[in-house]
Amino acid sequence: TVDENWVRSDLYHNSFLVRPDPALEHAIEASDEAGLDKIAVSPAQGKLLNLLARSINAKRILEVGTLGGYSTIWLARALPEGGHLVTAELEQKHADVARKNFEFAGLLSKIDIKVGPAADTLRNMQPEQPFDFVFIDADKPNNLPYYLEAKRMVRKGGVIIVDNVVRSGRVADPSEDNVYVNGVRKLLAHLKEDKDVEATTIATVGEKGFDGFTYILVL
Ligand code: SAM
Repeated sequence: TVDENWVRSDLYHNSFLVRPDPALEHAIEASDEAGLDKIAVSPAQGKLLNLLARSINAKRILEVGTLGGYSTIWLARALPEGGHLVTAELEQKHADVARKNFEFAGLLSKIDIKVGPAADTLRNMQPEQPFDFVFIDADKPNNLPYYLEAKRMVRKGGVIIVDNVVRSGRVADPSEDNVYVNGVRKLLAHLKEDKDVEATTIATVGEKGFDGFTYILVL
């Protein structure tokens, strides 16, 4: 149940700020045709991720949760020549849709899709050079393990963004008790004590309803 007011608001702002991009539109269409859930980030959020990555000159990006590769394309577009992105996805079907979308976007050479449970994928990674930017957007109960693995592989001054941390306010509602809100709560409880980072949550509203990002700077 998305409030038409916020859909209109996103479309209004996007009409000034987010240029049409055939590769991104194709990624959404191909994902819909393949029957993937409509749970990619919004265009405005994708552009925010792109701008944040560019703001820190990210050359190496890690993503957890690929789906059809919509957010991946926004992030890969932020990379300079020679930049690289690794994206971890559980479902082979999603990875196949995403790979075709990266090909269409001309980005396949920059992107490495790792298929399998992201907990295993991340645990087995020993990158020669650390990541600059990480976007965590997979199975929410695993937010904390993903964050801990991401932090191990991110340089000082790097950024980790975690999506869906507000969930229409349910994360803060004491009557809510499920794996989704608890996945966020566990991450927040850890961040409170984690001296290696500074973080804040920004709640968002738009065509995807009410939600938010936690932005984590590695000190
Ligand atoms: N980041 C994508 C975007 O904005 O375009 C959306 C990602 S979608 C919200 C979450 C994805 O995480 C799904 O494709 C799902 O299959 C994947 N996923 C779920 N459990 C996973 C796991 N254990 N390991 C890796 N990926 C997983």
